[in-house]
Amino acid sequence: MHDVAVVGAGPAGLAAVDVLASHGARVLVVDEQPRAGGQIHRQPPATFAAATVPAGRALLAVAERADVDWWWRTAGWGVFGGHAGLDDFAGSTPADRADGDGPMRLAVHGPDGARTVRPRAVLLTAGAYDLPVPFPGWTLPGVLTAGGVQVFVKSAHLLPGRRFVLAGAHPLLLVVAAQLVAAGAEVAEVLLVRRPRAGALLRMLPAAAGNTGKLREGGHALAVLRRAGVPVRFGTRVVRADAGPDGELAAVVLAAPDGTHRTVPADVLALGYGFVPSTDLARQAGCAVRYDPAAGGWVVTHDRWQRSSVPRVSVAGEITGVAGAEQAVAEGRLAALGLLADLGLVPAPRIGRLARPVRRDLRRRRRFATALAAAFPPPAPAPADDETVLCRCEEVTAGTVRAALRANPHLRTANGVKLLTRTGMGLCQGRSCQPAVCALIAAETGRSVAEVGPYTARPPIRPIPLGTLAGGDP
Ligand SMILES: Cc1cc2nc3c(=O)[nH]c(=O)nc-3n(C[C@H](O)[C@H](O)[C@H](O)COP(=O)(O)OP(=O)(O)OC[C@H]3O[C@@H](n4cnc5c(N)ncnc54)[C@H](O)[C@@H]3O)c2cc1C
Repeated sequence: MHDVAVVGAGPAGLAAVDVLASHGARVLVVDEQPRAGGQIHRQPPATFAAATVPAGRALLAVAERADVDWWWRTAGWGVFGGHAGLDDFAGSTPADRADGDGPMRLAVHGPDGARTVRPRAVLLTAGAYDLPVPFPGWTLPGVLTAGGVQVFVKSAHLLPGRRFVLAGAHPLLLVVAAQLVAAGAEVAEVLLVRRPRAGALLRMLPAAAGNTGKLREGGHALAVLRRAGVPVRFGTRVVRADAGPDGELAAVVLAAPDGTHRTVPADVLALGYGFVPSTDLARQAGCAVRYDPAAGGWVVTHDRWQRSSVPRVSVAGEITGVAGAEQAVAEGRLAALGLLADLGLVPAPRIGRLARPVRRDLRRRRRFATALAAAFPPPAPAPADDETVLCRCEEVTAGTVRAALRANPHLRTANGVKLLTRTGMGLCQGRSCQPAVCALIAAETGRSVAEVGPYTARPPIRPIPLGTLAGGDP
């Protein structure tokens, strides 16, 4: 029986596992990827010889711990029960722990099929994913997210095309463009919708102490792009992506700040508008969320020990707000310390002492992440025209959503629109369309995105075979 089941082996999850296992907790880690690292330290398959020394070696080494159970290619698709009070929980006896038969259940699906585990507590560190931004042609083969392009480069050491245009609003685009240049790609241009705010950039300076790694990474990327002669333009936005005779991306139509259009041939358009916290499993578990546009949208709320509103469910990393890998690591450590105290594995006074330097580090990371988010705010969503597909799983256009709203003036929430139009009911369960659908509802009804609300997250939050549900567990 496990004390803690951790969902996600990115920086937050790995940092937490290290603290938990080092203090004797019995830990299970599930991750839907084949190896540890999360988004930033995504690794090639174990059978590949690494062409370069992987970054984040110290964190990745945590995944070598033999005293932890690692279940790879295993998705957590539901959290059930777990509503027992924390006080009860902290007071549980060793005998309770031995049978481990608490009400908390984590349902997973992996290479061995479906399993239900009954840990004493769950730590959700599911991270974030690229913000999808619909525009005409965004569903063409060849239009990818910047993170998607990185999957090819980091885990397969492949380039998914020859000639790349990168467009969006997030500074990570510069890093991805430099990675592509280093891997031998032709990068035609890098386009950022807005120039970073000068005042906000200046405000980053006092927050830079202890955070110079990110600034160095950005400076290095700019130097690589300059040497390679790659233009970086501000104020340019993508108007549409055009297909060639084979139905795949052939060119990108761009609008300059003066409104003039030009066409750039490309076989990959990589989009990087920002990131969306992966809150689906936490919302399904019943954790409270709040809307914070600067942190990526809906984020899971937590107390000073990273406990969510649901007893025995803690959260860390980018599901609490997009803020970078260093902050994710600090939150992971803090969550682990909180769990060690709650589970009665380490006395509270000792935990207090251990937490002090972690909190100091976290404060430093938060200052920098806030300054960075202010310098590169996510763009206000441009209204999609009627023909543009918003929900690509169910092929629902912006026009269909608008028509539903106009025909039903009482429709004012994401869930209402979902029920009527099927947006968010497909394979991805709304991960892809929710931001754009909610922005459209807000624009049409004159409400804020916070008032429109997110889709309700229902189990299974990942596609699983029907037989798993028919089995009766959980
Ligand atoms: C696409 C993308 C690319 C990025 N590239 C960079 C970069 O190059 N440089 C940089 O500085 N920052 C990058 N970032 C930001 C950086 O990844 C994050 O700051 C950092 O990785 C966050 O750590 P985390 O532990 O919170 O989450 P993540 O690193 O996202 O890890 C979350 C883990 O949870 C797993 N998971 C999620 N849901 C489930 C589930 N239901 N069941 C099982 N497993 C699950 C995922 O497979 C993943 O391994 C990137 C972010 C994204 C989204």
